[in-house]
Amino acid sequence: MNIKIQMVDLKSQHVRIKSEIDNAIHDVIESSVFIKGQEVASFENELANYLGVKHVIGCGNGTDAIQIALMALGLEKGDEVIVPAFTYPAAIEVILLLGLKPIMVDIDIQSYNLDVSKIESKITSRTKVIIPVHLFGQSAEMESIVHIAQKYNLFIIEDNAQSLGALYTFSNGDKKRTGTIGHIGTTSFFPSKNLGCMGDGGAIMTNDDELARKIRMIANHGQRELYVHEMIGVNSRLDSLQAAILRVKLKHLDSYENKRNEAAQYYDSYFANNEELMIPTRGAYSSHVFHQYTISLSKKVDRNKLRKYMLEKGIQTMIYYPTVACNQLAYSSENNNSLDFPMSELATQTVISLPIHTEMNETLLMEICTTLTEGLRAQGLS
Ligand SMILES: *Cc1c(COP(=O)(O)O)cnc(C)c1O
Repeated sequence: MNIKIQMVDLKSQHVRIKSEIDNAIHDVIESSVFIKGQEVASFENELANYLGVKHVIGCGNGTDAIQIALMALGLEKGDEVIVPAFTYPAAIEVILLLGLKPIMVDIDIQSYNLDVSKIESKITSRTKVIIPVHLFGQSAEMESIVHIAQKYNLFIIEDNAQSLGALYTFSNGDKKRTGTIGHIGTTSFFPSKNLGCMGDGGAIMTNDDELARKIRMIANHGQRELYVHEMIGVNSRLDSLQAAILRVKLKHLDSYENKRNEAAQYYDSYFANNEELMIPTRGAYSSHVFHQYTISLSKKVDRNKLRKYMLEKGIQTMIYYPTVACNQLAYSSENNNSLDFPMSELATQTVISLPIHTEMNETLLMEICTTLTEGLRAQGLS
């Protein structure tokens, strides 16, 4: 099958910044400092400035970032961590890896983020952490989550792998970037993320000096200084080449996010009156950085057939995500019953994500929109 339009187009994005990237890579090779060093420190500072947070600590990937964040909190085996049931499950995986218990909460079907009205009933004396995952490019409802965390004395780790750069507005008008609202934020620089490198990378952010010190130590074998191992850590590093590449791309992040928003706007207006689908809802409290453009199809639509129709015309689509997390063999546990998550279940059955990236143009968008509409028509709809 010849796919004409893919979910992301990293190649065309690269062409635009090729000489900047080539220079950055060349400089790292010239310096021959491949681990730690100035590039990593500079990138950490620049990202901290961009986000308005005190500390950014680079690490190996976005999954490590969540693991290290959890390790820094001094939790005990069996402590409970609240997570959404509809998500990319990296957080759930590391919760289990550390001997903690994931307690899943249903989502709000409008935003695909945690339904904050369903959190409190899941809190027990063992609950220690809430991990909101800012899904698809938009913040979870953080003001309520912060209130709940304060009331029950819980930590918040924001999994911000999909929403780096999103801006959250509090009811008093204060604005903060996602990932800087809770005690710790984490992100991923996987190539297809909004700020992606050319391999694996991740980062952890916090405003807390003591947590930052611990996080740095854990990411580096628990070393306080060379050969002084104070605690059990891991080896999780952002390397200098990736940091140098990220320094270049960070300068373009705002323009990348504008491009994504322009594409989303096009889709929104094209599909606004289509009764067979629901366009993404934009929460009043968050900007949207459109890591994904995810629509929800009406029950009448045969989703598989639609995807097949589009693929035959050369257009890729994806299902993020096809399964409620507790129904995955690896994460099934007595605490989480899929009957508890009707909105997550509904989302897994109805969502479909369309191509969105920094290189979209009207020709591509028009082709995707008309093909989707034809696909519906082929099913006798709309
Ligand atoms: C991509 C992603 C991760 C994991 O990042 P990696 O760098 O691939 O480990 C974690 N959480 C969410 C929500 C993600 O989208």
